[in-house]
Amino acid sequence: MSTETLVPYDEALARYEPVLGIETHIELGTNSKMFCGCPTVFGAPPNTQVCPVCLGLPGALPVTNRAAIEGIIKIGLALNCSIVEWCRFARKNYFYPDMPKNFQISQYDEPLCVEGHLDVEVDGQSYRVEIERVHMEEDTGKSLHVGGTTGRIHGADHSLVDYNRAGIPLVEIVTKPIPATGDKAPLVARAYATELRELVRALGVSDVRMEEGSMRCDVNVSLMPIGSATWGTRSETKNVNSLRSVERSVRHEIERQAAVLDAGERVVQETRHFQEDTGTTTSGRSKEEAQDYRYFPEPDLVPMSPSRDWVEELRASLPELPAARRGRVRGEWGVTEKELQDIVNAGALDLIEETVQAGAEAAAARKWWMNELSRRATAQGVELTALPVTPADVVRVSRLVAEGTINDKLARQVLDGVLAGEGTPDEVVERRGLKVVSDEGELATIIDEVIAGNPDVAEKIRSGKVAAAGALVGAVMKATRGQADAGRARELIINKLTG
Ligand SMILES: [Zn+2]
Repeated sequence: MSTETLVPYDEALARYEPVLGIETHIELGTNSKMFCGCPTVFGAPPNTQVCPVCLGLPGALPVTNRAAIEGIIKIGLALNCSIVEWCRFARKNYFYPDMPKNFQISQYDEPLCVEGHLDVEVDGQSYRVEIERVHMEEDTGKSLHVGGTTGRIHGADHSLVDYNRAGIPLVEIVTKPIPATGDKAPLVARAYATELRELVRALGVSDVRMEEGSMRCDVNVSLMPIGSATWGTRSETKNVNSLRSVERSVRHEIERQAAVLDAGERVVQETRHFQEDTGTTTSGRSKEEAQDYRYFPEPDLVPMSPSRDWVEELRASLPELPAARRGRVRGEWGVTEKELQDIVNAGALDLIEETVQAGAEAAAARKWWMNELSRRATAQGVELTALPVTPADVVRVSRLVAEGTINDKLARQVLDGVLAGEGTPDEVVERRGLKVVSDEGELATIIDEVIAGNPDVAEKIRSGKVAAAGALVGAVMKATRGQADAGRARELIINKLTG
């Protein structure tokens, strides 16, 4: 079977209906590991955060991390799941060099959270993604393949293993099959991953950094002929580590599987790898069935039975969730769904909200963050949050404009100064001498000079051609380095010459 042949996307969608399924692994941000007291700092030197338990040494016994269980219950509740009254951990048996016990402690037929949903929106349409289960497990270590050009095991001279990640609490969130998304399938997959990331971030239980691997998606795609009631065979693209890649991997699988089906061949049930550089997927290993793992209840851990009081306590502690928050700020700021989406996409939601809470008008906060500062962040190729300007600075700039101390044009120069490290907005105004010339006497003197220097233009205005005043206003602005109130200058010029 060739993996190179692709059917153009629109053509594939004209004949086939995609069905999605997404399994997401999220590393919890607990201070210690799932079943031992080892620290969990990202980027620590290899094998410095290990102990007999997470190295799987004989006789070492695991103990469940309460903070991790709190974290997963919060995720389950935020996803509208039921929290079961009783469940167990299970051993998932398989051999991987980066998994020292040769089994992973996970949950099998008794997950902690079941039957939830998460609503996502794409192009103004809402899609309900049903959640089958949310279960608790531990992460594996990491293999590093050395000597090859690709960093993959093929062509490597030797491999190294780092067990720092082994035993970090990992929550797996499994959707039910997501049908009927049609040509929006890649966008629905991306919207789901985005919404889930925002949700977990709001809960504060993980930093959900896809580029660091603390959130990773396995994306299942299958195709069935349009009108068919039987789902096709799915492929599973593993460890997709950016939102954009989630979208691209679905798109590619639709184009690839359509070609396989068009050729009268069978889609192979397998895991695949997403290739960032080409936007394609390549074949991995053939997918194991659950029975291949020889699951059995973990004998070293007692069952979990979270009390109803505890669950309700955790439910009451949930913060405002992203969807509710978006609904609230839309009303408070008077923005459209599209405008809000732009704000979210620009990473400006928190910044604008903090700016509003610190006393700025919503419209002003939006204007400065979305127009001026977003443009500068894009030009510098950095995130908006990485700019050296705070919500408090933006509040101050918008106040200075509202008070008439500076105008919008000068405010841009003030922001330039703040970004250049010249100090607070007030310090920049002072140092750069950016105050609007509001002293009428001073402005009148400048206007007299400008009129005297442009007698022919002044004559035109005297004879009724007030449109010519623009040239004199320009001269006033030039003489004051943009610090005059242009509207007021125009009034004074016309009064002087025609009044
Ligand atoms: Zn340990």
